[in-house]
Amino acid sequence: MEQTLALFRSMVESADDAIFGKTLDGIITYWNPAAERLYGYSREEAVGHSVSLIIPPERSEELPDLLARVRRGERVEHYETTRLRKDGTRLEVSVTVSPILDRSGRPVGASAITRDISGQKQTERNLRHVALHDALTDLPNRILFTERVSQALARQRRDPDYRFAVLFLDFDDFKAVNDSLGHEAGDRLLREVATRLRGAGRPGDLVARLGGDEFTVLLEEVSGPEDVERAARRIQRALASPVPLQGRELHVTLSVGAALGESGDYQRPEDLLRDADIAMYGAKAAGPSHYQLFDVPMRARAHARLEMLTDLRNALEREQFRLLYQPVVELKSGRLRGFEALLRWHHPSRGVIQPADFIPLAEETGLIVPIGAWVLAEACRQARRWHCSSPRASPVKISVNLSARQLGHARVVEDVRRALEDPGSSGLALQLEITESMLVGDGNVATDLLAELRRLGVELQVDDFGTGYSSLTYLQRFPLQAIKVDRSFVHRMGARRTDLEIVRSIVDLATTLDLRVIAEGVETPAQRERLIAFGCELGQGFLFAEPLEPAAAIGVLEGPGPVTPCR
Ligand code: C2E
Ligand code: CA
Ligand code: CA
Repeated sequence: MEQTLALFRSMVESADDAIFGKTLDGIITYWNPAAERLYGYSREEAVGHSVSLIIPPERSEELPDLLARVRRGERVEHYETTRLRKDGTRLEVSVTVSPILDRSGRPVGASAITRDISGQKQTERNLRHVALHDALTDLPNRILFTERVSQALARQRRDPDYRFAVLFLDFDDFKAVNDSLGHEAGDRLLREVATRLRGAGRPGDLVARLGGDEFTVLLEEVSGPEDVERAARRIQRALASPVPLQGRELHVTLSVGAALGESGDYQRPEDLLRDADIAMYGAKAAGPSHYQLFDVPMRARAHARLEMLTDLRNALEREQFRLLYQPVVELKSGRLRGFEALLRWHHPSRGVIQPADFIPLAEETGLIVPIGAWVLAEACRQARRWHCSSPRASPVKISVNLSARQLGHARVVEDVRRALEDPGSSGLALQLEITESMLVGDGNVATDLLAELRRLGVELQVDDFGTGYSSLTYLQRFPLQAIKVDRSFVHRMGARRTDLEIVRSIVDLATTLDLRVIAEGVETPAQRERLIAFGCELGQGFLFAEPLEPAAAIGVLEGPGPVTPCR
C-alpha cells in the first residue's frame, strides 16, 4: 500500500499535465509541478486558496456548477474551457474532474487534470480561417458568405420583419487591367480594393470575395430599397479615388447588383446570390458605375438571355446565319458601287433575328470572333460567285462590319487573309467598316493592326460617323479611306438647321482629308438632293434598296442600269 501510494505520488509529481486536488468547496489541497508551470502559481501560493484563482471572471459561474457535480459523485471529462494564469493571460484547456471518494463511496474532494490546448485551438482556428477566407485578400470566401446568408435567412424565418440584402460587385474592366499590367498588378489592385471595401461597410456588414474580381456584401438590417442603394453607392464611392499602381493612377469603377431578402422571398442563399448577379448584369449593361436592384421580370430576361446564348453557340455550325447585301450607290447617277454585307440569324423557332438583338450578346461572349470570321469568308465567297457569274460585278466592292471585339484580336488579320486567299478573288475589293469608338477611347485599336489590314489591300471605313467621339483629329492618325455619315444625321437634315450644317462640314472635312463620304440611311429624294449639293458622292438607304438576298442583289448587279430610286 505504502509503495503504491509512493508510485502514484511520483507519477503525479512528474506528469506533464497540470494536476491538482480540491475540497468539495473548491479549496486547493494539492498542486503538482506541471500546475505550477502552467498557471504560474507555486504550490505555496495555490494550496489553501480557492480554485477561483485560476477561473477568469467571465467563467465564474462554472465553479458552483462543477462543484455541484463533484458532490453528486459525477465525473466531468475533457471539458473545454478558459483558465487564467497568474500573469493575467488566458489559456485554453481541457479539464477532467474526478470525485475523490471515501471508504463508504461518498465524495470528499476532487482531482482535476488540466491539459493546455491553446496551441491546438489556435491551429483549429487557423485552419478554419483558411477554409473560410480568401488567400489573396483575407476577406471571407464564398463558403463563409453563404453560411452567413443562411443565418440571415434563418433569422428572417423567426422574424418576418427582418430584411437584409446581398450586393454583387463586379469591376467594370478588371480584365483589361489584368491583361495590360499583369497578374501581379491585378493582385495588388484586388488587395487594395478589398481594403477599401472593408472600410466602406457598416459594422456587421460582411464583405466577401467569391473569386476573380467578384465581391459580395451582406447588408444586415436594411430598412428597404433606398437603404440598399445608399449602401451600394457608398461602396462605389469608396473606389472613387484612383488607385496608384506601377506609377500610374488607376480608376476603378464597380457595377453593383442587389437582391433584397424580404418577407420570405428566398429560401436558399444561392438564390439571393444568383439574383444579385442577374441584377449586376443589368447594371453592367447600363454602363460603368451603375447600380441595379433585382426584380422578378429580370429573372425572365436573364433566362431568355441564357437560352439565346445557348442557341447562339450552335448557330454557326447549324448554318443559321445569312448575309443580306445592301447596295451602295453613286448619289448622282444611282450607279451601283458596292454592297454592305449585313448579318441575319435565321432562328429555327424565332424566325429572323436582327443583328441589334444578338450582336451585343455575341460581342459580350466573344462569339463574335468566329461569327465575324464566317461573315468575312461568306461575303468574299459571295463576291466571287457574282464575279464569276456576271462580268459586270468585277468593280463592285463588298463591305463587312467589324466589331470591337474582333479588332481586339490579332486573329482578325489572319481571318481577312484567309477570306481573300481563295482562288478567283484577285479582283476582289474588300472594305472593312469600323466604328469611331474603336479608334478612340479605351478600346483603342493598335495602329499597326490597321496598317497590316491595309497591306492586305482592304479599305478601311469609319462606320456611324458622328455618333461617337466626333473627335476629328483621329481621322488623320489612322490609315482610313472613307467615312460613313450616320443615318441619324441624314434623317434630321430636314428638321434641324444644325444637323444640316454638321453634314455639310463632315463632307467638307472628309474632302480636305481626301476621304470618301458615304451617307447612310438615305430615305427621301430631298435628302439625296441635299447630299449631292454638299458634294457627298456615295449613299445607301431605302431610297435605293433595302438589304437584299443574294439572288435579288444579282438583279441589281446585272440590271439594265443604275439602281433607280425606288420611292
Ligand atoms: P450599320 O453598320 O449602321 O448598318 C446599317 C443598318 O442600317 C442596317 O441595319 C440597315 O438595314 C439599316 N438601313 C439601311 N438603309 C436604311 C435606311 O434607309 N433607313 C434606315 N432607318 N435604316 C437603314 P441592320 O442590318 O439591322 O444592321 C444593324 C447593325 O448591326 C449594323 O449597323 C451593324 O453595326 C451591325 N451589323 C450588321 N451586320 C454585322 C456583321 O456582320 N458584323 C458586325 N460586327 N456587325 C454587324
Ligand atoms: Ca456598317
Ligand atoms: Ca452605320
